[in-house]
Amino acid sequence: MTPRVLIVEDEAQILRLLRAAVERGGYRVTTATTGRDALHLARASAPDVALIDLGLPDRDGIELVKQIAELGVTVIVVSARDGVSEKISALDLGAADYVVKPFDTDELLARLRAALRARAPQAEKGGVINLGTAILDIEARRVMQGKEDVHFAPKEYAVLELLARHAGRVITHAQVLRNVWGPAHETDVEYLRVAVRALRQKLEPNPSRPTLIRNEPGIGYRLVTPEV
Ligand code: CA
Repeated sequence: MTPRVLIVEDEAQILRLLRAAVERGGYRVTTATTGRDALHLARASAPDVALIDLGLPDRDGIELVKQIAELGVTVIVVSARDGVSEKISALDLGAADYVVKPFDTDELLARLRAALRARAPQAEKGGVINLGTAILDIEARRVMQGKEDVHFAPKEYAVLELLARHAGRVITHAQVLRNVWGPAHETDVEYLRVAVRALRQKLEPNPSRPTLIRNEPGIGYRLVTPEV
């Protein structure tokens, strides 16, 4: 079925641009220009993804992020606000990704595809995830490159599994640290950097130009599964 995308944007010109881009990507589009309409449409039409502007006339889009994400809709924020703290609060409230205006439409469509792949049933059930150079079997806690097992330190594996279970989403440094090292280490970003460096050495075709575990500078990481 054609995925459905709800676009929430109050500026007519940007709305036109977004709609054209998303339709070009082959998706069905509905639009809203206020938070109130957006919430109504999200409940009534159950879109797969919502692109949400934060500066809306009737409410702060940040509230809407939480409300719409709670409905099971994948939220991508599309905002001119480019502050790291804004991005982190949107992600902490349930946004899967964050695109800063002015946006590149190809990049936006790539993020949209990644977010939709993450909604695929296999990733949700925690089955087998294609990492490009390797296959991650979550049930078996195993990573295979061809017939060979790839070995990881326990924390490295835990970081990989967390990112893979949320493939396509940006996971903040604090979210990973809390989950893998515990709440006391929420700010020990260096631990995480070391683990990610090791993962990239083992899994990226070119570890200095990562395509699987991408940086979101100052914010966190996003695991992007290859498009098939
Ligand atoms: Ca706006």
